[in-house]
Amino acid sequence: MYPHLFQPLDLGFVTLPNRILMGSMHTGLEARADGMERLAAFYAERAKGSAALIVTGGFSPNDAGELGPHRAQVSTKADAERHKPIPRAVHDAGGRIALQVLHSGRYGFHQGIVAPSAVKSSINPNAPHEMSTDEIERTIAAFAASAALAREAGYDGIEVMGSEGYLLSQFLAPRVNQRMDSWGGSLENRMRFPVEVVRACRVAAGDDFIIVYRISALELVEGGLSADEIALVAKAIEKAGATLLNTGIGWHEAKIPTIAQAVPRGGFAWATRNLKQAVNIPVIASNRINAPEVAEQILARGDADMVSLARAFLADEAFAAKAKAGDRAGINICIACNQACLDHYFIGQPASCVVNPRAGRETQLVFAATKMRKRVAVVGGGPAGLSCAAVAAERGHDVVLFEKSGELGGQFNLAKRIPGKQEFAESVAYYAERIRRARAKVLLNHSPTQVELGEFDEVVLATGIEPRKPGIPGIAHRSVVGYAELLSGRVQPGTNVVIIGAGGIGFDVALYLLERNERATLEPEAFAAHWGIVRDRAAAGGLDPKGPPPAHPAHRITMMKRSAGPFGTTLGRTTGWVHRAELARNGVAMLKGVEYRRIDDAGVHIAVDGEERVIAADTVVICAGQEPLRPFAAKHLIGGAKLAGELDAKRAMLEGAELAAAL
Ligand code: NAP
Ligand code: SF4
Repeated sequence: MYPHLFQPLDLGFVTLPNRILMGSMHTGLEARADGMERLAAFYAERAKGSAALIVTGGFSPNDAGELGPHRAQVSTKADAERHKPIPRAVHDAGGRIALQVLHSGRYGFHQGIVAPSAVKSSINPNAPHEMSTDEIERTIAAFAASAALAREAGYDGIEVMGSEGYLLSQFLAPRVNQRMDSWGGSLENRMRFPVEVVRACRVAAGDDFIIVYRISALELVEGGLSADEIALVAKAIEKAGATLLNTGIGWHEAKIPTIAQAVPRGGFAWATRNLKQAVNIPVIASNRINAPEVAEQILARGDADMVSLARAFLADEAFAAKAKAGDRAGINICIACNQACLDHYFIGQPASCVVNPRAGRETQLVFAATKMRKRVAVVGGGPAGLSCAAVAAERGHDVVLFEKSGELGGQFNLAKRIPGKQEFAESVAYYAERIRRARAKVLLNHSPTQVELGEFDEVVLATGIEPRKPGIPGIAHRSVVGYAELLSGRVQPGTNVVIIGAGGIGFDVALYLLERNERATLEPEAFAAHWGIVRDRAAAGGLDPKGPPPAHPAHRITMMKRSAGPFGTTLGRTTGWVHRAELARNGVAMLKGVEYRRIDDAGVHIAVDGEERVIAADTVVICAGQEPLRPFAAKHLIGGAKLAGELDAKRAMLEGAELAAAL
């Protein structure tokens, strides 16, 4: 079904069985006491799921290169010993695995960070010190030592992290490398450090060891390398001994989304093509490749020789095996929300996955076949109910899923209408398919009575929420609509729109109103034009010097909330900035500290700091949070029905799975 994807790839000393690499992810387990055991289980499941080559999360070659205050290093024999269970488990599962060696440079969140020059990053309060020549040479030796130790630990190779603005990128970029010695100045001098790192790793680890080099194929920062310069770096890295070139997109401080939902599927594969044209070793495309047909198209077009999927393997550990079997409907697709993976990393929690709560909990959340088959009623077919019904039925229970509307999905059916959130439709389809395969009975347009529920051994209430209706005078005015009515398309908004409430849904509603044209989230060309990315080979950082084009919003939007403090703090850590940037670019007005007086024909009457104002409004959208919807009492409550205050799909799906595992 996917002929290019399942072609073997001969690397000379080893043949990979297919073209699918599981890309590196920070799992948050690297530095934990039980980390190696949990990582071994996590990677082994993905190897069993037929990833041809897995790359671990980043491990530093020395203290200065650490990402945070916790030690995640491979620099001693003891480290190599500690790592041995990981490659062993992966090999036992029939896979291969490479250790990622990552030196954070000025991106490290600790006091001892270094960089080619003492230029602070805009995303880090800590300033680096300029590396001395001796430090540079010792760092190259540390990379080589890590490579040798990785081999000793049993890894099949390493990935040298040379992109995303980490130390190796920093050496290449005049914006950070302002040195006047032989490590700075000309491109040849600036690329000396990464080239020497690869050369030293090759010597230390031997010829029959995979060295993937993750190169910045598109920098997306001012003063970043051009496509022509990147091609020259790629050639030099190949010559230094790399086996494969993987793609990195954008520095972490780039102001353009690179993996969030706003990025179209496979939206950066064109940048990998530049590498492919420059070198003879295989190149790997990356970023937002979440479905087998997307991966297949990239290979068929000749943009790359392999594809890297990272979060896709969090969402479904058996992604590759299912694709090989042609079971597209059985694949749990990553929806690019970042909510349980990357966002977790920044709050010190282990990575998991919203749509696959078992990810990262392989040793903790075990779905064993039940020894006592029960009749289970799950009431509500939103994220919590879907998750619970699927797992309970797969465990062997006799499950009936009741849904009062005509379709499964609950809040996901509203979410999928937001530009960039179309992927939610995949999750609904996937869970519906699992439920069908596990032979659970689904009753749509059916609210069960207490009498009906009396026939079940277990009743799970997953009835979700109802939107809160604040007691503002005039709330029944004809201009007032609920967010659900608006997003479902039942209401056409006027020119002047006021949004009451500025949580995740208030922001979503604003995005919905602004971006009625969804092309920028679906088509790579439209995305590039929207964000000011150009394919001119000489353009620094791949950016249009004029910046993104001006916005032409169809509505004048004012968003307001009662509390003080900044807007958007409840949005995702790694995605909220994209939404804030879009709203700012479209001139959305934001009012905080608002007291609501009334709503009438003139608009929304408010007071801010004691000053009375009227904000003209043809449409007032209420996004003021939710209340739990509990039509009756039940022993088991999950998702929004349990707690509406923190309504969120991550908690809902986890609660559904945990409860089903325990029934
Ligand atoms: P929310 O985050 O709780 O925000 C509710 C908003 O309504 C707040 O701005 C609050 O601000 C206001 N509000 C609360 N009670 C009010 C009242 N009685 N009168 C007037 N205003 C009131 O709820 P949400 O926006 O509905 O989002 C629900 C959940 O969905 C979030 O917790 C999030 O997990 C999830 N979600 C996330 C995203 C995302 O991150 N992109 C998107 C969609 C949904 P004041 O109290 O200051 O007025
Ligand atoms: Fe993908 Fe979201 Fe799961 Fe992360 S949490 S792997 S982004 S679906």
